[in-house]
Amino acid sequence: MQFMRLEAERLRTISELTSLFAHEIRNPMQTTRGFLQLLDSPELSSKKRQFIKLSIDELDRANSIISDYLAVGKPASEERQRIELASELSRAANVIEAYAANQGVNIKIEAVSECWINVNPQQLRQLLINLLKNAIESMPDGGSIHTSVMKETGNYAIRIKDEGVGMTPEQVNKLGSPFYSLKSTGTGLGMVVCYQIVKQFGGDMLVSSELGSGTEVIVQLPNFEFAAEARGWRRPRANG
Ligand code: ADP
Ligand code: MG
Repeated sequence: MQFMRLEAERLRTISELTSLFAHEIRNPMQTTRGFLQLLDSPELSSKKRQFIKLSIDELDRANSIISDYLAVGKPASEERQRIELASELSRAANVIEAYAANQGVNIKIEAVSECWINVNPQQLRQLLINLLKNAIESMPDGGSIHTSVMKETGNYAIRIKDEGVGMTPEQVNKLGSPFYSLKSTGTGLGMVVCYQIVKQFGGDMLVSSELGSGTEVIVQLPNFEFAAEARGWRRPRANG
């Protein structure tokens, strides 16, 4: 318990420091990225164009590291919206499609049912992107990610299943510990943020993985409407 408190304190300090300097660093990075894009032109040698592309990719990578640090330890947002899970999943898949294609990974949305939830949309997007990103990064030789959004009794279940390197039970246990990463360029904060968001949503996240064959993550989110309907409550039409 003492450990948990120290950990939470440490994450909060990180989050406060990050938000202080993130803005200051992001602005010059954005300017540099813009000038690099202007430098690029078809007349340049392919080698020079490749250097420009590498520089832009590295700036984008630095930016996503800042995003990981910014997200951690963030307090629950008050802003909520009634959003539909399946359409958010397909939106997240679209956002990350180019990154996936670059690694020979395709994202399949296999089954969906209409699932409405009242949460912070930015946090939901971040959760889905972080999970899809991990799935993509687990497949260095490409493959498919199978996803679905389904209604269960009292819950909604988002499933993200990859055909990647998988994890040992010990590795699964370490998921969500701050700075735990097996990637040379990882921050080890992606899953910390995922657990934080799922907890704030009042849900749960389950992981099943096998080394060498892949990983399946299931996010369960409460279907409050189910509970209400079970008690015979209805949403009047005028309230959407
Ligand atoms: P990062 O992606 O920056 O390494 P995360 O917190 O997102 O940090 O993940 C922590 C570690 O958990 C990863 O480095 C990886 O070893 C492991 N991991 C997470 N998701 C998967 C997955 N889908 N398949 C295999 N390993 C995974
Ligand atoms: Mg990650």
